[in-house]
Amino acid sequence: MLNIAQETDTSSLTSRFRGIRGAKGANSRKFSIRSSVYCLLIAIFAGCLSVVSHAAPPKITAAKPVPRAIMKLERDYVTNLDGREHPLNVGSVVTLQMSSGKIYPDLEVAQVERGSKPNTFKQITFKPVKGVPPKIAPAAMRQIRTPDNIYDVVIDPASKSYLLIDQKLRDEVAARRLESKRNRLWEEPKPEEVAEAKTFYEDLMQKAQADNPQSRFHKVETQYFVFYTDMPPAQVAGYIANLDKMYDQLCVLFSIPVGTNIWVGKCPVIVFTNPNSFHSFEAKHMDTSDTQGIAGLSHQWSDGRVITICGRGDDPVFFAVVLVHETAHGFLHRIRSTSRIPSWMNEGVSEWIASVVVPQSSHIANRMTGAMPQIRSTGSLGGLLSADAGIDGWQYGVAATMTQFLVSTDANAYRGLITAIKEGYTWQEALELTYGITPEQLVSAYGRQLGLNNLQP
Ligand SMILES: [Zn+2]
Repeated sequence: MLNIAQETDTSSLTSRFRGIRGAKGANSRKFSIRSSVYCLLIAIFAGCLSVVSHAAPPKITAAKPVPRAIMKLERDYVTNLDGREHPLNVGSVVTLQMSSGKIYPDLEVAQVERGSKPNTFKQITFKPVKGVPPKIAPAAMRQIRTPDNIYDVVIDPASKSYLLIDQKLRDEVAARRLESKRNRLWEEPKPEEVAEAKTFYEDLMQKAQADNPQSRFHKVETQYFVFYTDMPPAQVAGYIANLDKMYDQLCVLFSIPVGTNIWVGKCPVIVFTNPNSFHSFEAKHMDTSDTQGIAGLSHQWSDGRVITICGRGDDPVFFAVVLVHETAHGFLHRIRSTSRIPSWMNEGVSEWIASVVVPQSSHIANRMTGAMPQIRSTGSLGGLLSADAGIDGWQYGVAATMTQFLVSTDANAYRGLITAIKEGYTWQEALELTYGITPEQLVSAYGRQLGLNNLQP
């Protein structure tokens, strides 16, 4: 008999309505804000597992930074550099943001070497300024900002030259597309929104302590996280390091500049040593009545707040996976817009990043071992791609290795895939606009990696 801890998502994508906590009286906000929950359910199942395998599923590996190459998705927003007015006119003053996160303000364009194809350039020379390198490779540039617009710098691999993507135009088009689906682009949170979120989070932390007077909670803050727990302090550092690694790796994956804060304030994480304290906290304060078998939850609101709440339990490696997995859901919520990415991708990225950050965990390998007999006997992924109310437990390993397959095939297209969905395209449209394939072609190619011909979604 073999026992395997297996995670199943149950209540993901279930949206509920919940009022925001705020100041009482004249300023109290009466409107409701959409909230949703992502979770991991641990079910224990027993049985004999087939270990026969014909071809190995993709091995999970970290993503490396790749050049931001122009995609079909972005062709409509290419800035016209052939007209009279454009941001690279000689004498224009711009702010340059590098991919490293470094910012050079007030640079005056001195000369632009144009590429052979329309609207492309090979090099920009700025008037010399102290502290700014005399020659800056366009490949290291992320954005050029003018007083009224922002332009993304992307490479056109075919001509080895560069293009500017008009971000204002892109935002306008995306906002219209999102509006028709009752979603919206995230905006930079206002100081009062950050303060309000912080009050909300701190209130929850106080409740965690008040409900558990026998335990002593303490707070550890990092650049992007506030970790609140009753775990022994010596145990906390490793888990926080995992969250920081997750943050850095997701920034690489989605080409988010170093130093960008994606949260409204900092992302709060509450961890109860005793899972029972987690269950009762969820029922009492988070309106989540049935958390039996669930190890952690990511709560998300349509105003941008997110929180991760977990029960540590007895398996430190599995807990590390749960923590990263749940917090990654929160990160995905905060990319670009309120738009939701489908279950198989959402769980896929969360599982993938948990495997990257916690390589000592064998949960993906175990899940794939568990899933293979079913995939082989049915010749299908059991409707994985069309599941919109959460995917089945056995499909998590598939979602993770499918993510690995997409990232290792073309990491730039993967960034585009998630961005396109966040800009209001369906995931099928997004797949076509970035990888240029249909869902059936994706599954078929993934199946060949497993040694299976004609695999069906
Ligand atoms: Zn999940």
